[in-house]
This record gives sequence, structure tokens and C-alpha cells, in this order.
Amino acid sequence: MAVMTPETLTVQCCIAGGGPAGMMLGLLLARAGVSVIVLEKHQDFLRDFRGDTIHPSTLEVIHELGLLDRLLGLPHQKVRKMRAQFGDLALTVADFSTLSTQCRFIAFMPQWDFLNFLAEEGKQYAAFHLRMQAEVIDLIDEAGSIVGLHARTPDGPLEVRAALVVGADGRHSVVRARAGLAVEEFGAPMDVLWFRLSRHLGDPTEPFARFDQGRIFIMLYRGEYWQCGSVIPKGSLDQIRARGLPAFRETVAQLSPFVADRVSELKDWEQVKLLTVQVDRLQQWFRQGLLCIGDAAHAMSPIGGVGINLAIQDAVAATNLLAVPLREDRLTLDDLRLVQARRAWPTNMTQRVQLMVQNRIIKRVLGSSAPLQPPLGLRLIVRFPLLSRFPARMIGMGFRPEHVRTSVV
Ligand SMILES: Cc1cc2nc3c(=O)[nH]c(=O)nc-3n(C[C@H](O)[C@H](O)[C@H](O)COP(=O)(O)OP(=O)(O)OC[C@H]3O[C@@H](n4cnc5c(N)ncnc54)[C@H](O)[C@@H]3O)c2cc1C
Repeated sequence: MAVMTPETLTVQCCIAGGGPAGMMLGLLLARAGVSVIVLEKHQDFLRDFRGDTIHPSTLEVIHELGLLDRLLGLPHQKVRKMRAQFGDLALTVADFSTLSTQCRFIAFMPQWDFLNFLAEEGKQYAAFHLRMQAEVIDLIDEAGSIVGLHARTPDGPLEVRAALVVGADGRHSVVRARAGLAVEEFGAPMDVLWFRLSRHLGDPTEPFARFDQGRIFIMLYRGEYWQCGSVIPKGSLDQIRARGLPAFRETVAQLSPFVADRVSELKDWEQVKLLTVQVDRLQQWFRQGLLCIGDAAHAMSPIGGVGINLAIQDAVAATNLLAVPLREDRLTLDDLRLVQARRAWPTNMTQRVQLMVQNRIIKRVLGSSAPLQPPLGLRLIVRFPLLSRFPARMIGMGFRPEHVRTSVV
């Protein structure tokens, strides 16, 4: 049997995973003069729906990089308010137009467009390298330090040696598993079924969430179609499927009457994708020579749709703290510790709020068979609309918005 000699590369930083965290980190480090390679296992960025939100804090980062006009030149929708209906009570839960930032809206843009954009911008820098179809399979551990990784590519094995390996390979991270980093699981009472329905002229344009006895339904305006999410009790997909597609269509039509005329577009369960909700985080995000960021360090609940935002913020913070030590070949464990110290608080706070909403609201709604009484927080927002600034701040900016502190080298 022929054994292929691996192709070997040496860089200062090797990033596993070309999602929002990995691509933003690759761009920022290369811009700061650090030689970097991003390894992405897929052939392209075209994937199933996995969140299309670019939050005001991410747009602020893009603005700080001088790329805002270029990004907003791509097709997108601007969302300034998030609305919800809880039982009979309809309200604006978050009003982004009140934020004091460059962009007072969430830009909805297909994630692949955003990732392609980051890849194109990264290529402006000689220090930036991106390898598609490169699947990370293992780490290189020498005397307890991570000094690189092994990947599989269509051309054969690839070995990358680096002062720092970053696990940005999402919530099923191979890097964090191979590094043996301990994960704390928080559980979730729900899963989400995602599917599309066409959008018709005259439909509303704002995202919308409906909470009714035993049911939660979300609709995100995506230009020509609606990205719809049906929140279901965890593990109940088989029961829902057993009741049949007509019953599922009818539930959708009841929760969102204006799409009743097009639920027939759902012809097969194949069109309905399951997101298994998972909330967890690493106790320690790093080891000698290795750091995890984004979902690989902390898988977020979909509540508030903030996972992409946190992933980007981690990348910005990591660059601010690591670019100089990496460029000067003097990276230490303490530098990696500082990244976790910087990002742990906003991550923990966000997850704490998400778990509170999951356990106090989502669980109650999904388990109820009687008409719903809106929670106190929502009743207060109806009474004092200015309070919708707080959810807008939390969703739009997060607990500790990061700013680009590095310059082009
Ligand atoms: C259905 C769905 C809807 C969501 N909706 C929203 C939303 O509306 N707003 C929001 O903010 N967040 C949303 N999220 C969460 C959001 O997608 C994540 O929080 C965010 O993408 C995390 O970014 P990341 O870069 O850390 O990880 P990911 O986006 O998961 O990126 C990881 C990348 O690593 C690659 N990869 C994985 N393993 C390997 C390997 N071994 N080798 C090489 N590459 C590898 C993957 O292909 C992927 O490209 C949603 C998620 C899902 C699944």
C-alpha cells in the first residue's frame, strides 16, 4: 500500500474552521502581519441556513476596518425592530434604532455571502491563506504543547506547524475534543425546525416571533422567502412527524395566518431541517499552543440569535491580544489566558440570560395548554416602550462590544 508523504506548511497561526469566528480571525491576524492559514472542511461556504444576522456590533467592527460600504453593497435587508406576539399581546421587543452606533440595524445577509466577503478581504494580505476542503483530523502534541495539526485534503494529507492552533470549528469541534478540553453542558428544553416559505408582495418585512399555548414560531424576512423556525420540545421531532405533514402545515398556518396560502409548499419532511439546540462552554478555552473561540468554546442557544456576533467578538479580542506576541514569536500561555479572561464574562452573561429565557419562558410556553399570560418583562415593555432599548442593546451590541485595536502591518 502506498503511503503519501504529507504536504507540510509552517505558519504563525493555523485556524481550524472557516465560519464567522475563523474567517474574521484570519482576516484580522493577516491584516496585522501574522502569517495565518484557515482550514475549512467544506468546498465552499454554501450551507444550510445557520443564521444570517450581522449585528450592529459586527457592523461596527467592519466599519472600523474601513469595509462597511463594501459589505453593505452586497444584497441584504436592514431590520430595525424585532416584534413578537405573546398570546394576544403584540409588541416591539427590541428597537435597534435607539442604539448609539454606526449602524442602528441588524443586516440580514446569507452567511455564505458574508464569509465570501471576509475571504476576499483576507486575500488582500500576503499573510492570509485559506484552504478549502481541508478537514482537520488531529493535533500535533509535542511534550504537552500543541505545535500544529493534521488535516485531510483531496490531494492527500496536510501537516501544518504553527505557534498557535485555533479551534474555530464550531459546536462539534474536533480541535476541542482532541485537545481534551473539559466541556460544561447546560442543556436546552427545545430544538428548532427550520424551513422556507415563499414571500409575497404585501407581506410584512420585520422578523416576527409568535408564542402561543404549547407553540413558538419564528419568521425571518429573507428577501424572496421567509426563513421559518418552529420551536419544539426537545426530542419531539418523531412525534411531530408521526402526526404527519398536513398537521404540521396546519399549525404553521394557525400561528402565522398570512402564510396559510403557501404552507402547501412544504411537500416533504426533507424541506424541514432540525437544529438540535445545545448550550455549553469550555471550562478552559486554551492549552499551550492552542485556543478555542466561537461555538468551539461556547455553543450558544439560538435565543436572541447572537452566536455569530459572539464568534466575531471573540476573533476581534483574540487579535487585539495575540497579534503582537504572535508576530514577534513570543506567544505564552498567559497571552491565551488573557483572551479567555476578556471573553468569558460576556459569554457567561449572555448564556445566563439565554438559560433564564429558556427555562422561564420557552419551557413554560411549550408545556402550556392554557391561554398564555405574557411575562412581566414584556408587559413592562408594552407599558414603557423605551425599555425595548435594553433587549436591543443586549442583542445588537452584546455585553462587551470589542473594537479593532490593531493596525495594518
Ligand atoms: C440553524 C441555525 C440557525 C442559527 N441562527 C443564528 C442566527 O440567526 N444568528 C446568530 O447569530 N447565530 C445563529 N446560529 C448560530 C451560529 O451559526 C453560530 O453561533 C456561529 O456560526 C458560530 O460561528 P463559528 O465560526 O464559531 O462556528 P461555525 O459557524 O459552526 O463555523 C465552524 C466552521 O468550521 C468548519 N469545520 C468544522 N469542523 C471542521 C474540521 N474538522 N476541519 C475544518 N473545518 C471544520 C465548518 O464547516 C464551519 O465552516 C444558528 C445556527 C444554526 C445551526
